[in-house]
Amino acid sequence: MHVLITGGAGFIGSHLVDLHLARGDKVHVVDDLSTGSRSNLAHHEGNGNLRFDEADILTWQYLDRAVAWADRIYNLAAVVGVYRVIAEPTKVLAVNIAACERLLRAAREGGWQPQVVLASSSEVYGHNDEDILHEEQDLVVSSRAGTRWGYSVSKIADEALGLSYAQRFGIPAVVARFFNTVGPRQIGRYGMVVPRFVAQAVRNEPITVFGGGLQTRSFCDVRDTVVALDAVATSTGRDTVVCNVGNDREISILELAQLVIERAGSRSTIEHVALREAYGEDFEDIRRRRPSLARLRTLTHFQHRYSLERTIDDLIAIE
Ligand code: NAD
Repeated sequence: MHVLITGGAGFIGSHLVDLHLARGDKVHVVDDLSTGSRSNLAHHEGNGNLRFDEADILTWQYLDRAVAWADRIYNLAAVVGVYRVIAEPTKVLAVNIAACERLLRAAREGGWQPQVVLASSSEVYGHNDEDILHEEQDLVVSSRAGTRWGYSVSKIADEALGLSYAQRFGIPAVVARFFNTVGPRQIGRYGMVVPRFVAQAVRNEPITVFGGGLQTRSFCDVRDTVVALDAVATSTGRDTVVCNVGNDREISILELAQLVIERAGSRSTIEHVALREAYGEDFEDIRRRRPSLARLRTLTHFQHRYSLERTIDDLIAIE
């Protein structure tokens, strides 16, 4: 199979590269290295099945050719991370929506209709304070416009674009709503909680919990995420589908901090930082986030292989 991965030098993208190269597929990565890094792909140096182009999806002149070559395209290129989303709100909208549109247009004009896998996000569900799972049908545009709503809107727009190209032009689309993804190669400087906690615990520095820490998340190891994503794309073939991709074990941020301290055998204490102080402006955090995996399980035989404890242990070993 020929696989094009935009954002393939990033955290999730580089693990997708690993998966497809291990299978013998030919992989073409296009990445502007704004948050990704060549070092994420360094272990594939010399592999003739991997081609890398440093380019911005918005302006790259060879996008049409790369799209025409591909059987499957993963669109992961995006401006991500809470800090960047707060600092560069218009860039988030401009890059995330325009990159998706440009890619879909190239797929439409190429004649051959590659399968397009779009990286969406649990953020499309907005705020959810109830004890309910996020079902794929649940999408409601929340009126509670939070600071990172621009990012959510960009993902909602990408989904709408993908689904409309699928309907109008027969381009099969997989809309994958990633929930919090964690694991090797994720960097903490854009606000990602797990790598930050691990780095603090290993150095015996205070673990900084933003807000009360009672907000919950469901963390999925990236090595599971990419297997699940490929399984969904493979099972749907020429059909179009919207599917949550994540892990439904829910944990509060305070429990996460305690777990990281315990696994690291750390002397770190826990320090609470007000949300305003952490993010530099008023910030209403999402209280609960947990995916329904019903559709993932209906479509695939996917089973998680990495517990949160295993992921944390692996990160501690790397740190
Ligand atoms: P990442 O920052 O590691 O990956 C994004 C990649 O896209 C980077 O390598 C970056 O350099 C590249 N990129 C950005 N703009 C580009 C452009 N204009 N042209 C070419 N390349 C560009 O982040 P990630 O966590 O791997 O995220 C991958 C995708 O998954 C994103 O679309 C993100 O919105 C989505 N997502 C991630 C999570 C998560 O928990 N990590 C959750 C939900 C959704």
